[in-house]
Formats: sequence, C-alpha cells, structure tokens
Amino acid sequence: MAPLSKTYYLLNLGCAKNLVEGEHLAGLLLADGWQAVESSQEAELLLVNTCGFIQPAVEEAIEATLELAGDKTEAQCLVVAGCLVGRYGKKLAAQLPEADLLLAPGEALNLLAHLAAPPASRLAISPPRSLFGGADPRALSTGPGWAYLRVSDGCAQSCAFCTIPHIRGPLRSRPLDDLLAEAENLAALGVKELNLVAQDLTSYGRDLGGPGLTQLLGELSNIEGIQWLRPLYLHPDLIDDDLISAILGNPKAVPYFDLPLQHVADPVLQAMGRKRSGAQLKALVRGIRQAAPQAVLRTTLLVGHPGEGEAEFEALRDFVADMAFDRLGVFPYSPEAGTRSARLPAPPALVAQERAERIMSLQRRISRRRLAALQGQTLPVLVLGPHPDSDLVWAGRTQGQAPEVDGLVIITEGSVLPGSIAPCRISATHDYDLEGVLV
Ligand code: SF4
Repeated sequence: MAPLSKTYYLLNLGCAKNLVEGEHLAGLLLADGWQAVESSQEAELLLVNTCGFIQPAVEEAIEATLELAGDKTEAQCLVVAGCLVGRYGKKLAAQLPEADLLLAPGEALNLLAHLAAPPASRLAISPPRSLFGGADPRALSTGPGWAYLRVSDGCAQSCAFCTIPHIRGPLRSRPLDDLLAEAENLAALGVKELNLVAQDLTSYGRDLGGPGLTQLLGELSNIEGIQWLRPLYLHPDLIDDDLISAILGNPKAVPYFDLPLQHVADPVLQAMGRKRSGAQLKALVRGIRQAAPQAVLRTTLLVGHPGEGEAEFEALRDFVADMAFDRLGVFPYSPEAGTRSARLPAPPALVAQERAERIMSLQRRISRRRLAALQGQTLPVLVLGPHPDSDLVWAGRTQGQAPEVDGLVIITEGSVLPGSIAPCRISATHDYDLEGVLV
C-alpha cells in the first residue's frame, strides 16, 4: 500500500519536555499542510522523537526506530529526532543506517527545511541553541483542559550522574512575554491546568537576568481561564522560602511540590554533585509540611549510585518512612558514559534494582495510608473523560495528582464536559488511585 502523500506518523518518547518538542514538530508539519495518520504503514513520513538520557531509554529509542524501519517502504522517509540524536550525534549514523534523517534538538526548528533538502544530507546536527517559542506552531496532544508549558530548555546544573546538560545544552529560558502569550492562547483553547516544565524550573530566568519563577507564576495567575498552575521539577538545591511562600500564596498555584531529591545520605549527595546536605533536605521537606500540611509532596529518588552502601541505603529508606511523601518515583542508577559518576565504582545493577523495589513496596503502603485520609472529602477534580483502561467509568485528577506520573480519580457517577473542573466526593481510596462521584 503506497503511503498517502504529505502524511506523517509521530512516535513521541520520553519526558513531558520532549512531548512538547514533539507537539511543535507536529505543529510545523500541520502548518505546512501535512496530515497526521494513526498507522505507520499509511504515512509518508515516519518521525520518532526520541529520549536518550539513560541506557534503558536509549535501547527503547533504537528498538522503536528499528521496528518502524522494519516495515518501511522505499516511498517512506524515516526521521529520528530528539535526545538520542542530541546525545550521540554523527556517531548514530553508523548505528542507524535505516534512518533517512537524524535531526538533533538544535535543528528541530528547521525540520521542514531538512525534509526539503536532498536525501544525501542525512545529518542535521548542531548544538542545542534554538528554542521553540509561543509563536511556533504546536499541535497539542494532551487531554482536554490541560497542557504543558515548557518555560526553558537545557540546564545550568551539573549533577554528576546526568547527561541532560550535554544533550539539551545550557539553560535557555523563554522570555516572560512569550510565555504569557502562549499561556493566553492555551487558555483560549480551553486549557484550565497549566503544568510548567523544564529540566530545572527553579532556574527559570536566571540566564536572562530575571524575571524568575515567582514572577512568572504571578503573571500566569492573572490569565483568565487558567485555574490551576502546577510547577514541576523544583530543584532541591535552589528552592527557598520565598518561592515556597510564592507558590502557597498564589491563588492559582496548586499546593503541589515536586522535589527531585535523588537521595538523603551525605556521601551519596556529594558524589552526585548536589549542594544541600541530608539534614538541609530534611529541614526543607519539614518546612513545607509545616507551612502547608495539606500540600502534596512528590519526590524522585536514585538508588545504587556511587557512594551508596547498605548504611546509606538504610538512611534513605528511613527518610522515606519518616517523611511519608504523597508521591514518589525511584530509579535504579544507570552509569552513563561521559558523566562524572560513571567513573566511580557503584553497587551492582541487581542490588540497585532490588533497592528500588524495597523503596517502592514501602511507598505503596505510605501512598495507601495518605490517600485513605481523603475518604469522604469533596475535592475539585479536573475531569478528563473516559478512563484510559475502562469504558465503564471516567477519569479525573485532583490538584494533588500531576499528569502521567501520579494516580487518577476513577469517576463512578456523574458527568460533566471533559476538561471541566468539578466537585467530586471521594467514595473510596486505593494504593495510588481515588474513586469518587461528581456532586
Ligand atoms: S538539574 Fe536535572 S537535568 Fe539538570 S543536571 Fe541535574 S538532574 Fe540533570
């Protein structure tokens, strides 16, 4: 079957920031008269927007690309974009001869020009300097009533285990007025919840000499139609009392603190190149809990990193038990070539995996206990529409549930227009999900 002319099939991998990048790539194509198709067989253009920051993501990206290449016909063009290309650049050409174009993040804005270029020039590689802005076309792929707002790209930090500064380049914040214009457009499209994303949200504006995150949140809260502002990825070395008060004092900022602490044992934090000590991180978490007992705290941990012996792991486990985070993700350490951590001895991968499972089984009990306290309460819920796993019920999210990483509210009764925020009485609670009826 010959592919339909000017049709594309987009496969987005990786994080929310990369999803926004994919929405812009789709936006460029649609603005140029291309059409999206659901099946790769029908498409003239096969576009894989890859992730590449850790080995499992690299393997997933290569597997997905080879799968598409396996069914690819002469009439189809296979483009590999995103962080895998950003990380390996020209070296990828030999490994993926099936790809007709390798498009690095630095060249994403020039997708159409590269598609129009003669097939010979397979490599579109340049350092990540450019940044999609509010005026660039964007095909929203998120559900009704919510969207991501990517406020910057790149990162000014240098955590020892992380490849992202190498892949996405230095911190590049988008100007305030550009972000406000995009947020206005999103509000006009019916977006009620704006999830602010970046590699390090706390550093927003530092490369521009300000304004910073506090002012951005303040300005965004003046936009009519936007009801919830959710700042994601608040760097624990950079969050301070002013920002905490600004979030708690902002009428539209949800009381949700996403703090990727990674660890709490000092020898591990030092090996990671993190600045705050375990004692300071404990004080930070306790301080937020004191200032806002109803706030939801999310964290991300990395186990098996160099410097972590059984004692350091036990210290982390006790910390998780004491702090009782509402939401928690844990990853086994993966030594990444080119990082400082990869030069240090680390516990075996099986030990890291086993430690991650021990943390998650503890967290499952904590999550169940914390959700149980919501039984009988009536909470505002962003109604998303039919539940992804069942046609019998709908789904929604509370202010305490971030998209794609946290649980959902299973709505068993009542219906409103998807994308609306409506009161919901919590009728049952589970390990990670809630159940409720719209009232
Ligand atoms: S702040 Fe995040 S993205 Fe930046 S170097 Fe550290 S872990 Fe990587």
